[in-house]
Amino acid sequence: MKYTLIHRDDDVSVQITKQFYQLTQQHGLIKDEASPDLVISIGGDGTLLEAFHANQHRLDQVAFLGIHTGHLGFYADWHPNELEELVHLMSTEPFKTTEYPLLEIKITADSENLAFLALNEFTVKNIEKTLVMKVKINNDDFEMFRGDGLCISTPSGSTGYNKSLGGAVIHPKLESIQISEMASINNRVYRTVGAPLLLPKHHHIDLFPQNKGEVGVTIDHLHRQINNIQSIQCKVAEDKIRFARYRPFPFWKRVRDSFIDNQHLD
Ligand code: NAP
Repeated sequence: MKYTLIHRDDDVSVQITKQFYQLTQQHGLIKDEASPDLVISIGGDGTLLEAFHANQHRLDQVAFLGIHTGHLGFYADWHPNELEELVHLMSTEPFKTTEYPLLEIKITADSENLAFLALNEFTVKNIEKTLVMKVKINNDDFEMFRGDGLCISTPSGSTGYNKSLGGAVIHPKLESIQISEMASINNRVYRTVGAPLLLPKHHHIDLFPQNKGEVGVTIDHLHRQINNIQSIQCKVAEDKIRFARYRPFPFWKRVRDSFIDNQHLD
C-alpha cells in the first residue's frame, strides 16, 4: 500500500501528520508521491479539495481518505484519535471504494479554452454589476438570468455553497448536477425559474454571459477572473472520485452529523 499525504498547516494538523508518519513507518507503509494508491488528507474539507485538485490527473489510480482535525470535515471520516486503527487497517486490509460524481466545466473565452473538474461546485458571479446570462439546457433556450450568479454543484457538493443558496441535498448515488440561483431578479420585467434545477447525466447546461469584461468564476476553493467569456458548459463528468472505505460511512448520517447534531439521539 503506497500513499501520499496533504495536510493543513495549523498546529493540530501538523502534529497529527507527524504521528501518522511515525505509525505508517512502524507498519512498513510506503509514502510514494509519484504513484500512490491512497491520497490522505489531514485537515478539513478545504484540504480534501486541495488533495483532489492536486491529484485529478490520476483519478482512476487513486482513492481518497480524509482525517479531520477540527473543522467541519464533511468528506473526512476518520478522527485523530483513530489513527492507530486506521494505520493498522491500511497495513492489513484492502480498502473498498465508493464513487462520487464530479462536475465537468468547459469555458470558452476570448483567447483561451479552459476545462475544469469540480468536486463541490462551479460558480459564476459578477460582483460589481448584475450578471446577465443567457441560459440554455440541452441546446434549448431556457431563460435570461439576471442576478448575482449561478452555482452548479455536484451531489457531494450539494451540502456546501449550494445548501446556503437553498438548494437540495442530493445523495451522491444520483448522478446529477444542481443549478441554484444567487439573488436572481424577478419582477414584471425580468424572470428566472426561481427554483433549483437538477440535471441528470447526459444533460448539459450552457451559460452565455452578456457582460463585457471580466466575470468571476470559482471551481471549488479556487477563484479566477476571466475576460470576455463567450460560453460555459457544465455537465456530469465522465471521471469520478473514489473514496477509500474501511468501514461504512453513510451519506445521510454524515449530513445529520454535520448539520443537525453529532450526538446520538436518545
Ligand atoms: P471555506 O471557508 O474553506 O469553506 C467554507 C465551509 O464549507 C467550511 O466549513 C468547509 O468545511 C465547508 N465545506 C466545504 N465543502 C463542503 C461540503 N461538500 N459539504 C459541506 N460543507 C463543506 O471556503 P472556500 O475555501 O472559499 O471554498 C471551499 C468550499 O466552501 C466551496 O467549495 C463551497 O462549497 C464552500 N463555500 C460555501 C459558501 C457558503 O456556504 N456561503 C461560500 C463559499 C464557499 P471545512 O471547515 O471542513 O473546510
